[in-house]
Amino acid sequence: ILNIEDLGKTYQSAGRTLTVLDHINFSIAEGSTNAIVGPSGSGKTTLLGLCAGLDKPGSGKVELANINLGSLSEDQRAQVRNQYVGFIFQNFQLLPTLTALENVMVPLELRGEKNIKARSMDLLDKVGLADRWHHYPAQLSGGEQQRVSLARAFSNSPAILFADEPTGNLDTETAEKVVKLIFDLNKEAGTTLVLVTHDLELAAKTQRIIRIKGGKLIADDKTEIK
Ligand code: ATP
Repeated sequence: ILNIEDLGKTYQSAGRTLTVLDHINFSIAEGSTNAIVGPSGSGKTTLLGLCAGLDKPGSGKVELANINLGSLSEDQRAQVRNQYVGFIFQNFQLLPTLTALENVMVPLELRGEKNIKARSMDLLDKVGLADRWHHYPAQLSGGEQQRVSLARAFSNSPAILFADEPTGNLDTETAEKVVKLIFDLNKEAGTTLVLVTHDLELAAKTQRIIRIKGGKLIADDKTEIK
């Protein structure tokens, strides 16, 4: 479902060119579960954003559902995201002026779907937040915001779910619930999972671990690096 070839990304900062991703290659099979791990600053978030079409590759190729994202405009990438991608951001990125329910409704609205209020309520119920539907993000705890973000990511029934540190800000109990919801989506709907995480216990639950260091892919299996 995802094919990355020779992917590179640089940023310009203070007059210097910073290479954040350097010749990355891998493919992700439909229905598989994958973790991307690596030290802080190694380029994981950047990589996830490029895979999901949030940003344009600097060099190389990103193919999602057989669509070459590099050749698309920003609007076209947004359409591809809407059709195939769920994304859980490290810092949730809920819209602050919308309620929990309205945040979950956004992807469904963008797709012009019907019955979106009832369906969004069902999703909030699934993440245990039915009684918080009218709350704004600022009135929710970190864990609750994370679960709204999860419901929003699920709402367009994505073929592939990207999650950036989905358990990073959560207590153990909430983290377990969130992990279960994510893996249930894989089991029940066949959703492909790509999770960026520092949590090695979470990474171990996936079928495959991709290790990134200094913008390079250094290992691509489930064995430990010595
Ligand atoms: P963490 O685990 O700490 O979240 P990460 O592996 O996800 O880190 P990235 O967020 O992808 O790392 O960042 C990789 C590098 O790119 C970092 O050195 C960061 O400072 C740099 N970087 C990220 N975004 C930008 C930007 N917009 N402009 C300049 N540099 C950036």
